[in-house]
Amino acid sequence: SSAPAPIIATLFPGDGIGPEIAESVKQVFQAAEVPIEWEEHYVGDQIDPRTQSFLTWESLESVRRNRVGLKGPMATPVGKGHRSLNLTLRKELNLYANVRPCYSLPGYKTRYDNVNLITIRENTEGEYSGLEHQVVRGVVESLKIITRQASLRVAEYAFHYAKTHGRERVSAIHKANIMQKTDGLFLKCCREVAEKYPEITYEEVVIDNCCMMDNLLLEKMEVSFLIFVSHAQLVKNPALFDVLVMPNLYGDIISDLCAGLVGGLGLTPSCNIGEAGIALAEAVHGSAPDIAGKNLANPTALLLSAVTMLRHLELYDKAERIQDAILNTIAEGKYRTADLGGSSSTTDFTKAICGHL
Ligand code: NAD
Repeated sequence: SSAPAPIIATLFPGDGIGPEIAESVKQVFQAAEVPIEWEEHYVGDQIDPRTQSFLTWESLESVRRNRVGLKGPMATPVGKGHRSLNLTLRKELNLYANVRPCYSLPGYKTRYDNVNLITIRENTEGEYSGLEHQVVRGVVESLKIITRQASLRVAEYAFHYAKTHGRERVSAIHKANIMQKTDGLFLKCCREVAEKYPEITYEEVVIDNCCMMDNLLLEKMEVSFLIFVSHAQLVKNPALFDVLVMPNLYGDIISDLCAGLVGGLGLTPSCNIGEAGIALAEAVHGSAPDIAGKNLANPTALLLSAVTMLRHLELYDKAERIQDAILNTIAEGKYRTADLGGSSSTTDFTKAICGHL
């Protein structure tokens, strides 16, 4: 009897520390016997006319074919005449949702030790539609686009995620009291989807209240858009949040704020969800040119991103095992990289994780 065919996944090691932390993922996956075969693609050194970017057509085809991939950080090439790498990936692969699990790492002390939330950011429209122009001198206009199609799509993903990951509540974050039409439509779509998931509690939270607001003030406001107001506030009570879904700009800011609650961008995983079931996981941090090639990089964010990829593939056992090994290694405190106050190299930290497996 032969073993089941391995799952093929695209791997972009990326630039700077990318290859070092990608190597760490490969080793940990091997030690955990994850049935994945990597198809590696590097960013090209010239512009591919078919993508108008340094990303090759073949590498994009690889993600489309495999529908699952892991991306290391990519340094943005300077110069004109090409599309940014991340924009190319987002547009070509239709990556419509950015998902960031955000949880306290046991044993790594930060202000809060009980955060366990997920931010889901709409990634294709809103304020980031790129439609800005000057009306007359001294007056500019920027168009915020919200469509029913994109709002339903990201809301559907958020509720589906909540249901399949044992989450209980979805909070839609908005400013519909001011942005009545755009955020109003976003909320309307979230409500429609919420009705299909009666087992998931749905609430709507105005973005400033979501961050921090006096409950007293809230009572005085006209709150016709609020179905249910929790007393959750990210900077005071982050543990009260579960799954948050929001338009592009709010998602950009809130997801970074949440990363800050649990130890910073260097520890935060993320996963981009695209049309046709594509999942492209990536660390949130950049290529860290200051420490590249020195065996100093912390591979945790990329490893935890790879774990989100395994969950997407429903390889839950492997995902749990690897996540536990990473968290146990950090909690134990014997092997930590310099950014976490330790003195371990990337390779020693990786070996310690493999040991915990
Ligand atoms: P950066 O995240 O690369 O580095 C910021 C600081 O954090 C540096 O001191 C770096 O050493 C440290 N750091 C980051 N990741 C680390 C890790 N895993 N372990 C230990 N320390 C880590 O941000 P930057 O310097 O502003 O950007 C460098 C390059 O990365 C730029 O070309 C930028 O465009 C690119 N970038 C890419 C992405 C991406 O591909 N998604 C995201 C952000 C930045």
